[in-house]
Amino acid sequence: MVSPEKESDRSARLFARAQELIPGGVNSPVRAFRAVGGTPLFIKSAQGPFITDVDGRRYIDYVASWGPMILGHADPEIVAALQAVAANGTSFGAPNELEVELAEEIADAMPSIEMVRMVNSGTEATMSAIRLARGITGRDKLIKFEGCYHGHADSLLVKAGSGVATLGLPDSPGVPAALAQNTITVPFNDATAVENVFEQHDDIAAIIVEPVVGNMGCVPPREGFLQALRELTRQHGALLIFDEVMTGFRVARGGAQALYSIKPDITCLGKIIGGGLPVGAYGGSRELMRNIAPTGPIYQAGTLSGNPLAMTAGLLTLRRLKDKKVYEELERRSAQLCNGLSSAAADSEIKTTTNRVGSMWTSFFTDTPVTNWETANRSDREIYGRFFHAMLDEGVYLAPSQFEAGFVSIAHSEEVIEQSIEAARRAFTMMS
Ligand code: PMP
Repeated sequence: MVSPEKESDRSARLFARAQELIPGGVNSPVRAFRAVGGTPLFIKSAQGPFITDVDGRRYIDYVASWGPMILGHADPEIVAALQAVAANGTSFGAPNELEVELAEEIADAMPSIEMVRMVNSGTEATMSAIRLARGITGRDKLIKFEGCYHGHADSLLVKAGSGVATLGLPDSPGVPAALAQNTITVPFNDATAVENVFEQHDDIAAIIVEPVVGNMGCVPPREGFLQALRELTRQHGALLIFDEVMTGFRVARGGAQALYSIKPDITCLGKIIGGGLPVGAYGGSRELMRNIAPTGPIYQAGTLSGNPLAMTAGLLTLRRLKDKKVYEELERRSAQLCNGLSSAAADSEIKTTTNRVGSMWTSFFTDTPVTNWETANRSDREIYGRFFHAMLDEGVYLAPSQFEAGFVSIAHSEEVIEQSIEAARRAFTMMS
């Protein structure tokens, strides 16, 4: 047994080394624990619903690599397939059969997608999607929603959620003003505000939206909101881009577009479709997608795009998600978790509002409904930080920021969820 003082020594030592070599010691800002304080844990391994840090402590994981791990970590079927595929070469820079199979799987799940281009991250997917929208419409302006995050491309890094919101940064330096001016932001769930923008600007290329927001914490669309975006874009000759990087194959197999019966023009995907390897994709009708090179003039390319490792992890994940029971089970267990968390908080007289769509959820520390960035921002971040650390002490790893969604995987058994609720009960009792 290591003594308690030494328990987090390895993470702390690695973090000190990392900070000398990597900005903030991390390769993605939110990992640095700035919003909750303390030293980030360095993770050594992960299995099913658990992650284990370099000091040997095991946690129930609700970050799930920020969404991809819907089957749980190190799924044996996927690990075995990756080993076999790797033995035959990890990247060819030439077409392979697996890319065709993954494209078929995506098109089968999402009727709005007839053609899809694979890329390597969600950022690449959204960046390429807006280029496509601008190229097709010949217009430059975009509408995006406050608190939505669509990756870190210049045009989309305006009033963004996720790590940008977490750090309370003003809009990022380095984004040319000329580009930022072309991005008009409006509050999420406010169709009238969108209508007003269309009245004032006749050069809107597209609306980009997280149909269920994950990046200010989980915020579902109000009834009729997505429908209004669909109608307004049609009316004004703009394209509707659903950024389903997080929601695709998460809130339903067919994503939020299936759940709310809306057909966007372009869909961005990532996370789950890569099964834990780096993948993104964007797709739409054949008519639209034929505008991309080499069939059309809108350029986009990628050295590692469609590589057999990423395609394999994605393909096997999507095949497993064809079983409807998976989503029924995820719904049941996620409801169990969120109901348990809400009642544990209420028993300790701690005010929370829990939002959830399928296996995507957030408990906000506020008692008012959370429907957009302004209301999400009312959440008490200091209490979130205390809750986060109390849960960590209890062996539960939550997102190190209030403004992120939590994810349940099929590896989170009823028992694991019950343990998480009991942990929260103890955490809330200690905090109250
Ligand atoms: N869009 C959404 C909705 C996301 O949640 C994210 C990442 N969290 C991105 C785009 C960017 O994806 P990536 O980090 O793979 O570039």
